[in-house]
Amino acid sequence: MIPDHDTIVAPATAPGGAITVVRVSGTEALACCDRIFRGREPLAAAAGYTVHYGTVAEGDRTIDDVLATVFRAPHSYTGEDSVEISCHGSRYIVAEILRLLLAAGARMAAPGEFTIRAYLAGKIDLSQAEAVADLIASSSRADHALATNQMRGGYSEELEGLRDKLLQLTSLLELELDFSEEDVEFADRTALRETMERIGGEIDRLRNSFALGNAIKEGVAVAIVGAPNVGKSTLLNRLLNEDRAMVSEIAGTTRDVIEEQANIGGVRFRFLDTAGIRATGDRLERMGIERTMESIRRAQVVIRLLDARDLEGDIPAAEFTLRQEQRLLTVINKLDAAPEGFRPMKGTIGISARRGDGIEALCRALRDAVDTEGVYHGETVVSNSRHYEALTAARQSLASALEGLDRGLPADLLSEEIRPVISRLGEITGRGAIAPDEVLENIFSKFCIGK
Ligand code: GDP
Ligand code: MG
Repeated sequence: MIPDHDTIVAPATAPGGAITVVRVSGTEALACCDRIFRGREPLAAAAGYTVHYGTVAEGDRTIDDVLATVFRAPHSYTGEDSVEISCHGSRYIVAEILRLLLAAGARMAAPGEFTIRAYLAGKIDLSQAEAVADLIASSSRADHALATNQMRGGYSEELEGLRDKLLQLTSLLELELDFSEEDVEFADRTALRETMERIGGEIDRLRNSFALGNAIKEGVAVAIVGAPNVGKSTLLNRLLNEDRAMVSEIAGTTRDVIEEQANIGGVRFRFLDTAGIRATGDRLERMGIERTMESIRRAQVVIRLLDARDLEGDIPAAEFTLRQEQRLLTVINKLDAAPEGFRPMKGTIGISARRGDGIEALCRALRDAVDTEGVYHGETVVSNSRHYEALTAARQSLASALEGLDRGLPADLLSEEIRPVISRLGEITGRGAIAPDEVLENIFSKFCIGK
């Protein structure tokens, strides 16, 4: 994509607020604004990082009193001359200001166009641009920390480091070709293998972090499962603090999976209330149970709920094979109605979903099931599926290059095998070469207008 510096405009704030910021960026940004803005001096004469009070007017009709903030190229988000006009947040005023700016020579910005410009100007790389969108969408402390880490670029540096190492390796290999008569090895094969394996290890670590990163970004899925009537729907309502799911003493009340979100200790959880598991002849209920099984497969955490009055009535263990990375919490409900002297077994959490006892301990356990420490301390955690796919492809290419090394491939072929690893890693930051238009389109079309 060729950088285009024509002047674009868009409101940058959501409608409905007291103030709206209208953003203008491009070669003619200051001139465009001067056609509609009247202040003490023209914005074209203003220095960067200054704010100007004035009015927006059409002829002798004043539309609004505004503040105009001036940014001078290259010291702006887009790297171009830019103005941010803060006006009153009326739909009418905003529409009028946009209309006047369009008449003054600007055009409406496409979604994410300001950020595309920042990328093309080399201000941020692609993964940082994506982090901007994630930051705007963030809804929990952990989610926010992920986006912030990625936006600061620590991740990009790590990837660039890996790419640089691989580039060095290939250039050593390619150097050998120039001396092919003399049968020299600039790239010592043992050292080469070690470096490639180390890079493979680092890629694996990044790939492994995706399970956590994705869970934090999408919300950690928690399936609440158990026999009918143990109180799953009551627990969901308790965790959400609202009457979301139907509760009744009739077994088999919940048929479809109900999904609701709640923020607990800085992490967003997605709770899945499911149909109780039992043998049944009812076709609808059986479909519900099928969906319960699907929820168990999708969940990061499974709450297995039991009734303190009927521990034997638990679902058969056979129904319950979790993957290694899934966490199981065994929770015993209806403590309030349990026989005298009942104590929850070791390793389980006792609650009364009806009265709210033990819910804090359950929330702590949920919170502990998600390891956010690294995220809060700036560790690189992959949360973007585009990055995960690129890392996976890079890992596969690297494996095939290592195999080539074992087979004693000559330097030129070996370097051919390493090239795709380099380009795959480069795709993530888009730094090696400017990303193709369709990749940019894909990333930025998800942005809001004005970003
Ligand atoms: P589900 O089938 O597992 O979703 O169970 P429900 O949430 O529909 O509850 C089944 C019955 O157990 C209802 O009559 C609830 O009021 C009751 N119940 C749920 N939690 C508790 C609890 O903590 N204590 C007592 N005594 N009853 C409960
Ligand atoms: Mg239910």
